[in-house]
Amino acid sequence: MTPPVVLSVAGTDSGGAAGTAADLTTFAALAVHGACVVTAVTAQDTTAVHAVHAVPPAVVAAQVDAVVGDLPLAAVKTGMLGSPAVVEVVGELLPGTPTRPLVVDPVLVATSGAVLGDAAVVAAYVDALLPVATVVTPNVDEARALLGRAADDPTPARDLAGDLALLGPAVLLTGGPDPRDDAPDPCCTDWLALPGAEPRPLRHPRVATRNDHGSGCTYASALAAHLAHGASLATAADRAAAYTTRQLVRSAPWRLGRGRGPVAH
Ligand code: PLP
Repeated sequence: MTPPVVLSVAGTDSGGAAGTAADLTTFAALAVHGACVVTAVTAQDTTAVHAVHAVPPAVVAAQVDAVVGDLPLAAVKTGMLGSPAVVEVVGELLPGTPTRPLVVDPVLVATSGAVLGDAAVVAAYVDALLPVATVVTPNVDEARALLGRAADDPTPARDLAGDLALLGPAVLLTGGPDPRDDAPDPCCTDWLALPGAEPRPLRHPRVATRNDHGSGCTYASALAAHLAHGASLATAADRAAAYTTRQLVRSAPWRLGRGRGPVAH
């Protein structure tokens, strides 16, 4: 059967953990064809992002035009966009529609701590991309940045998700480990905020692993793939969380690289 097509708009990771590598392998695992627009080339391994080479906005736009002119896109997922101009290109050329959901993973900081989106990029997300996104998938730090809050702002994750949903899109906020959870069965709580509704918690097991590099990309790509198959946002979020958890469990015992190893693809 002909698979649905999902477009990844993201940066490359030479270590093969995050960015386009995670997106395209997740798409393949979930039976969608992955198209791929590259926004930046990163020199990266499991320890750090060593260099970033931004692709010119006109070249990003040309890639988008080529794909949109030829392939029927069932969903679009964005990852690292890198510059305000590229954020604006995506907002202009690929706004979410009822038949082509736009999943925005606002990549601002790498797992290693490297800054992949500065204040100007944050402003462009808020002005040009969130209003046309179907769903945005920040972690707590990214949600604070998008809301213009301080890094130590004490607002609970649930309310960050609700506040962000007021900017336009649905929000799937990856809350991370819940400090109130007791071992031996720790959980992560994510929050799904649909416009106009109370945020609802999505709880899933916490996997103790260093090999989580690419897990944010994997989660957002799995969400886009399930939306492309026709799942509702709530169902797609549950399935994406379950898929990402399973991949983290698979790679937990791996020994690859000196830093945060890749999540299994
Ligand atoms: N996209 C690129 C190109 C990256 O380099 C990174 C992080 O290093 C990410 C996305 C986000 O990675 P993660 O899924 O580990 O949050």
